[in-house]
Amino acid sequence: ANFHDLQLNPALLQRLQEMGYHTPTAIQEAAIPPLLEGKDVAGQAETGSGKTAAYGLPILHAIQLNLQQIQALVIVPTRELAVQVQKELKLYGQQLQNLKIGAFYGGHKFSEERASLAFPPQILVGTPGRLLDHVTRETLSLKHVKQLVLDEADKLLEMGFQEELDQLLKELPKERQSILFSATMPDKVKGLVVRSLNKPKMLEA
Ligand code: AMP
Repeated sequence: ANFHDLQLNPALLQRLQEMGYHTPTAIQEAAIPPLLEGKDVAGQAETGSGKTAAYGLPILHAIQLNLQQIQALVIVPTRELAVQVQKELKLYGQQLQNLKIGAFYGGHKFSEERASLAFPPQILVGTPGRLLDHVTRETLSLKHVKQLVLDEADKLLEMGFQEELDQLLKELPKERQSILFSATMPDKVKGLVVRSLNKPKMLEA
C-alpha cells in the first residue's frame, strides 16, 4: 500500500513524501482507516512500529487549526516520550498553519506550562501526574478534547498511574474518540481498554 491510498489531508501526504515516507507500516495501515472514520482503536504495537504516526496522522488530519483549544490529549508514561512524541508530531504537521503542540510533564516548569495555556495548543502531550496537577489546580480544562490517546498503556499501568488515569478520564468529555496503544495486552491493559474506549476496533500484533 501507499500513503496516498489513505484519505489524509494533502498537506500531510505532501509532508510524508518530503520526509521520504512512502509506505505505511503495518500498524499504520491497520489503524489509520478506522481512525479516520472516527472509530476507537486499541492496538498492540511496539516502539519502532510507527505507532506515533499511526495515531498522530489521524489526529493532525482531524484537528481544527483555526481553534485555539486543546482538541487532542496524548497521555504517555515518561517525560522522554512526551518530548519525543511532541517532536515527531511537529515534524508531521510542519505544513499546517497555526498548529501548536504542547508537552507537559514532571520536571518541566509548571508556571511556564500554565502561561502557555493563554494560547492553548490544539494537541497536548503529557504525563499523567503533571496533567492531573494542572486539572486539579484548574489551570487546564479538558472540555474541548475530542481525541484521547493512551500511548504505551502497559507502561502507564506498570508505573502506577491507574489512579491518575481514572481521574483524568472523569474530566474528559464522554463523547470523544479514544485510542490506546500498548506493547503487550495483559488483563490489566484490557481492563483499561474496557473503561476508556467505546466499541474499539482491536488490532492484534
Ligand atoms: P515509533 O514506532 O512511532 O516510535 O516510530 C519509529 C520510527 O519510524 C520513527 O523514527 C518514525 O519517524 C519512523 N517512521 C514512522 N512511520 C514510518 C513510515 N511509514 N516509513 C518510514 N519510517 C517511519
